[in-house]
Amino acid sequence: MAQVRRLPQSLATNTTLFSVLAVFGIGAYCARSHLLPRVHAESNEPPAMFSGFGFTTLRLQSVKVVNHNTKRLVFEFPDPNARGGLSLTSALLTFSRPKGRWLPVLRPYTPISDLNQQGSLELMVKHYPNGKASTHIHSLVPGDTLTFLTPLKGYSWVPNQHPQIYAIAGGAGITPIYQLIRGILDNPNDKTKINLVFGVNSEQDLLLREELEEYKRRFPGRFDYVYTVSQLEGETGGLKKGYVTEELLKTVATDRGDAKVFVCGPPAMETSLIGNRGTKGILDRLGFEKEQVYKF
Ligand SMILES: Cc1cc2nc3c(=O)[nH]c(=O)nc-3n(C[C@H](O)[C@H](O)[C@H](O)COP(=O)(O)OP(=O)(O)OC[C@H]3O[C@@H](n4cnc5c(N)ncnc54)[C@H](O)[C@@H]3O)c2cc1C
Repeated sequence: MAQVRRLPQSLATNTTLFSVLAVFGIGAYCARSHLLPRVHAESNEPPAMFSGFGFTTLRLQSVKVVNHNTKRLVFEFPDPNARGGLSLTSALLTFSRPKGRWLPVLRPYTPISDLNQQGSLELMVKHYPNGKASTHIHSLVPGDTLTFLTPLKGYSWVPNQHPQIYAIAGGAGITPIYQLIRGILDNPNDKTKINLVFGVNSEQDLLLREELEEYKRRFPGRFDYVYTVSQLEGETGGLKKGYVTEELLKTVATDRGDAKVFVCGPPAMETSLIGNRGTKGILDRLGFEKEQVYKF
């Protein structure tokens, strides 16, 4: 992915506010760092780590290098029974103090682990040269900590509301799309069909490939994907070459009536799909209504 996903304007404004609050210190919230997950002692429910605004500092348990610019990082909860408590689809706003910077940096990242998983969560983070948060996160080693400020809700998914979804991801934009895919397929009561179109620069950027393959194997007829690689070298091995084009989507998105479309990728890809200031995007030209399309 050649570009950085930006926070929506509303979030960016909030982020500034959060920064100011953070700089002046909100003792009450800081005191919650390292505290046990928020839960009433008498509840039988596993405690939820992220139930609202407040600092939560988690220890990094393990790091796995995925490719030339991406790592998977597992953060452990202080209580091994605790769950994240995030709803499908959510991201977490991280709060970090990169080396040499006085002001904190706030950036959202999307857990790729099962949202009901107890004891830990996993992030997948792409590193941008000179990227403030991603450089800091990539510098962490097991035993270090990362602070989270608040969950950010994305699309409120309702099982079976649509018979079919089309998920279109570009590069590291696969993370929210993957969270949605696994949330749907891991729910035995949800029968939604899913077709993924995943566009990347090179084959090594096909993140979560094994996981997606496994879902395809487990859910034949319900989950399928097309990978398209812009800089494809040598054998194609079932991969398409190029960008996510109208021609490609026409062959995948054949059931347009009640379908919902999810999009997450670099700005250029999102603009070509959704359009910009009066110009129609590919999805519009294919007959999708505005309300059918959700951009993370
Ligand atoms: C809801 C949401 C969820 C997200 N989830 C994830 C996630 O799960 N995983 C993930 O990795 N990201 C995710 N992101 C993106 C993430 O929040 C950050 O925007 C990203 O990590 C860059 O932040 P940074 O502080 O490292 O870079 P910044 O300091 O913000 O700046 C990056 C700057 O680096 C420069 N740059 C340097 N090299 C490059 C390059 N190769 N390409 C483009 N620009 C370059 C650009 O000029 C750019 O302005 C998500 C974003 C949103 C909005």
